[in-house]
Amino acid sequence: MKALIIEDTLTSLTVVTHQLEKMGITPIQARSGEEGLLLFEEHRPDIVLLDIMMPGMDGYEVARRIRSIERSGEWTPIIFLTGLTGDADLEKGIAAGGDDYLTKPVSEVVLSAKVRAMQRIVQMRYSLLVLTRKLDSANQELQRLSSIDGLTSIANRRQFDEVLGKEWRRAIRSQKPLALLMIDVDAFKQYNDHYGHQGGDDCLKMIASVLRDQLKRPSDFAARFGGEEFAVLLPETSVEGAKLVAESLCESVRACKMPHEASGVMPYVTVSVGVASCLPESASGHGADLIAAADKALYTAKSEGRNRVSIADDLSPHTS
Ligand code: GH3
Ligand code: MG
Ligand code: MG
Ligand code: MG
Repeated sequence: MKALIIEDTLTSLTVVTHQLEKMGITPIQARSGEEGLLLFEEHRPDIVLLDIMMPGMDGYEVARRIRSIERSGEWTPIIFLTGLTGDADLEKGIAAGGDDYLTKPVSEVVLSAKVRAMQRIVQMRYSLLVLTRKLDSANQELQRLSSIDGLTSIANRRQFDEVLGKEWRRAIRSQKPLALLMIDVDAFKQYNDHYGHQGGDDCLKMIASVLRDQLKRPSDFAARFGGEEFAVLLPETSVEGAKLVAESLCESVRACKMPHEASGVMPYVTVSVGVASCLPESASGHGADLIAAADKALYTAKSEGRNRVSIADDLSPHTS
């Protein structure tokens, strides 16, 4: 443990230094406020013993400056060494950032007791800081987990709703179209019946990894919408662009050639995709219309034979 003693009177400086050494504390001596501040920055002591009356910068000013040097969360105990013991002096010292005071001549017993008390507070404060950090990271992890789908590790419905709201508002500001793809695995009930629930889960993981690998733009966003349905948001994407992405996702799933013997569509796992894109306006809902339009298009893709992309014909007067 290091203690910085800032004291212009040599006898007092020597006595306090000696007392600290006896307590096993490493003393750092400064003969003026100015020197004290320099040594504070250089050594970052665990405690500061600070004289008030000094030529040049007085102890109050030194305390204020130490508090302004400390970064947020940092705190070094400051004990004033003073011949002044009036209420007003004490009040002024605490206001300047001091924590306690010792009257001169300093009693060894009182110095030792006060330094120990401060050490205890520093320890408790440190434990609290460690605990707060742990709590912060636990909260972050909780936040992350609450927005991730446990099976596929992509965003869940909760995060999708949040991102849709955000992108919808952004699209209103930028006046750029926002596209949505609704993706549904074909004949998934048969897949589960044939390959078992575990097999079905693996199939959903495969679809999620295709989405992760294929989406190129940082703003493109894929989520598990629910069950065997996935949703992909494509900001600043027209219906033509969204159609290209949808076709390529469809093809990528086919290219995985994941066997699906029970499908009436192909011997492999396939998906159907509904596509909708619109130029959001504040008056035109909050993305619910976009979901409904993409859902309707998905239904069309299913009824037209599955394993295909279908485009929503009209979403609003502002469909782009
Ligand atoms: P369609 O081609 O029209 O989409 O038919 P489908 O069989 O895929 O559609 P349907 O909605 O009839 O079946 C969806 C199935 O998805 C039923 C349900 O048991 C299954 N399912 C939903 N969530 C999960 C899941 O997390 N894991 C597994 N293995 N199956 C799931
Ligand atoms: Mg003095
Ligand atoms: Mg479905
Ligand atoms: Mg399905």
